[in-house]
Amino acid sequence: AAPVLAIDGPGGAGKGTISRLIAERLGWHLLDSGSLYRLTALAALRKGVALDDEPSLAGIAAQLDVVFRVDQGHAVIELEGEVVTNDIRTEQIGDCASRVAALGEVRSALLQRQRDFCQPPGLVADGRDMGTVVFKDAPLKIFLTASAEERARRRHIQLREAGLDASLPSLLKEIQARDARDTQRSVAPLVPADDAIELDTTNLSIPEVVEQLTRLLVQ
Ligand code: C5P
Repeated sequence: AAPVLAIDGPGGAGKGTISRLIAERLGWHLLDSGSLYRLTALAALRKGVALDDEPSLAGIAAQLDVVFRVDQGHAVIELEGEVVTNDIRTEQIGDCASRVAALGEVRSALLQRQRDFCQPPGLVADGRDMGTVVFKDAPLKIFLTASAEERARRRHIQLREAGLDASLPSLLKEIQARDARDTQRSVAPLVPADDAIELDTTNLSIPEVVEQLTRLLVQ
């Protein structure tokens, strides 16, 4: 099996950007596992499936017709042949994703799909349970954190760049609600793996984090 770098942590800690930059630097594959939960939520909303109908949601997750591709250097995600790259990034879909992600059957349905991303020469896996569940044997596990205020600020900037607007106080509230749901759920709660290295990025720039992680990788 190919080596895996597992990068877990709460939403907005910078995992997405950091994972992409490290995958690019190493020439490794990238798994944005959160997108699978977001895609499941979007597909469910579109099909009119209730967000607590566990068997139907698991069915949707198991049958997700999704394509991840790169177009002129930009990651593109297609659901049933339609580009949904930006549609899955809204706060509404993020909130719905964290609800469907609390369901054990949905998580099991997405397990193999995630493991299939592990291909030579290696995989950078970004999520909540990469080091604790999906890639338990990963040789290097990182747990990225940042204060909730800093994460809200970053999300604000990210949304603005995607052409979406949201107020900072409402983002902070949503982040705290999402943290609570992710850490308190009974299946695969958000916790650092026993062998994870924790890195608080509150006062670090993106290049500083990439630098520190690259140093850990060569050790
Ligand atoms: O990381 P992102 O914000 O895209 O994830 C959306 C939601 O999906 C998270 O709030 C979390 O509830 C869920 N998730 C998860 N396990 C993962 C990745 C994401 O439960 N590995």
